[in-house]
Amino acid sequence: MRAGLAAVLASALLLAGCAQSVDPIERLGKRAAQGVRPSSPAAHQAYRRWGLAAPLAAPPSHPVRPLTSQRPDTALPQVVHHVATTDKVVFLTYDDGAERDPRFVDMVRDLHLPVSFFLTNSVVGPGYGHFARLRAVGAGIENHTLDHPAMPGLPFAGQRAEICGQQEKLRSRFGVRPRLFRPPYGTYDTTTLRAAADCGISALVLWRAAMTSDGITYARGARRLLPGDIVLVGPDEATGPALKERTRRLLRRVQAQGLTVGRLEDYL
Ligand SMILES: [Zn+2]
Repeated sequence: MRAGLAAVLASALLLAGCAQSVDPIERLGKRAAQGVRPSSPAAHQAYRRWGLAAPLAAPPSHPVRPLTSQRPDTALPQVVHHVATTDKVVFLTYDDGAERDPRFVDMVRDLHLPVSFFLTNSVVGPGYGHFARLRAVGAGIENHTLDHPAMPGLPFAGQRAEICGQQEKLRSRFGVRPRLFRPPYGTYDTTTLRAAADCGISALVLWRAAMTSDGITYARGARRLLPGDIVLVGPDEATGPALKERTRRLLRRVQAQGLTVGRLEDYL
């Protein structure tokens, strides 16, 4: 979700065609341990290093999944802005894959942040190794199309190619088959739902809150973070604070409201 995407796409296209090798760290990523939050003294000190006033609370070990996630396989994907749960968790989601700061991998590892990345192939380009490292420290990898088009109005075959094509990219790079899809710009039509279902997607993930360089904005409803909120951390603006700084600011708000970070994939 970003202005200036065309420039990124252009540069990504210039870099496309690089050898798609799998390095040892990527292979490590395929064995990623999910949902582990160790409680060693060192882990408890990590919050200071990342500018938090207190350790981030562990999410519930038995998440309360909403009934809406228990759907027959034949149903169209559910569309979610917010997860219906009473667990005191919010979900941190990131789009596109343009910013690839190695320090952000350290932050996710140190804080055991269960973040979710919705990746667009033409933006990530040859940068998948970074996301393999994120996956190795617990991040979820999800689908955000091959080329980031606005989906509404595109024919079924075109929408299906964008979604299924990225499913195949992520499967070949990480050995995963995402169940979650975020349409570019958060826009979709009924054709998108049918195409996504055909590609094995069970949920279209939108967001209720967004962390921008100006702070948190709310697309709908209450003007504060609520349990179950899906937060888009972005957009990636060259002039705004870097990903890790935006995440730090958001985490301080999350903690101030008595919440912590849950793993979206545990709830949908
Ligand atoms: Zn996007």
